[in-house]
Amino acid sequence: MHSIDVERVRPAGGKRSSKRDFIVDAFLRQEGHLSADDLVELIRKEDRGISRATVYRTLQWMMDAGIARKVDFGEGRFRFEHSYRHPRHFHLICKTCNQSFEFLSSDIEALIEEVAAARKFAGKQSVVQIYGTCEACQTGQPAAQDGTTELIFARDALRIAIATERSGLEFYTRAARITQDLRGRTIFQKLAEEEKEHLGTLEARYAQLLTMDPQLESRPAFLFFKGAANGLFAEGAERLTKGVNDQHALLIGIKCERGSHRFFKKYGERFEDSEGKQIFMEFAEEEKQHLELLIREYRSLMLRRGRRPPGKTVKARRRAHV
Ligand SMILES: [Zn+2]
Ligand SMILES: [Zn+2]
Repeated sequence: MHSIDVERVRPAGGKRSSKRDFIVDAFLRQEGHLSADDLVELIRKEDRGISRATVYRTLQWMMDAGIARKVDFGEGRFRFEHSYRHPRHFHLICKTCNQSFEFLSSDIEALIEEVAAARKFAGKQSVVQIYGTCEACQTGQPAAQDGTTELIFARDALRIAIATERSGLEFYTRAARITQDLRGRTIFQKLAEEEKEHLGTLEARYAQLLTMDPQLESRPAFLFFKGAANGLFAEGAERLTKGVNDQHALLIGIKCERGSHRFFKKYGERFEDSEGKQIFMEFAEEEKQHLELLIREYRSLMLRRGRRPPGKTVKARRRAHV
């Protein structure tokens, strides 16, 4: 699963070492969060000739190379996890079985940014950890296996993109229905068609992902993006029912597309290089194209009606030059 090219991530000046490669390989074959001692034990099982000091040095080297990341669960010792192609995340830590589980939430991140900004604090790193008892330890039932975070991350990224696509499709279908202007209606129909096509592509990708892990669908969620989970167009679609005119329909569409583009771009850029990141970045680009199309349409509608767009919209247009 972790076919990492050690040569490629080797820091400048780092030389080849078969012991080190052996340790790196053993580390990457493990999922989860290992302490240095866990790793020493693991290595010694396979090769008694490797010293503790070598393992420690290699851990440091892996951190420098961006392969490993240090995490502190408040146990008085550090643990290490993969960072290569492994998205940043928060942790749930079970005090009974000492297992930890990963998640990421845009809502938590947004709140942290808000607090830091309000306090004029230049935040560099934030750690969120939830301590307690995991479901398996509470119920005595075996836990749903966590699986590979990378795959679950891609699954959740796709789910969010699909939800957005669905809400977009709903939005444009509705918009086409209520639009009086023929040209405007055609545009909304075209966008609805596009959303349908994208939806098909995303669903095929999702199905393909499921073939890589038969239990993938049932694995616990990793990404918690509250607002985005229902689709970023859901609110806009809601507003369309209240008898809006063509101009307003376009404006609502612009607002939704801009919000969606920003959302996917912002998080896509933050993620580590991964399939999930790619899904977000590609989606951000599609949304940008829709946004630009809607802005052009809005302008053209205003021109045809011989009106200048109101001031607010001029600003919105400027901001839209993303
Ligand atoms: Zn537990
Ligand atoms: Zn972790």
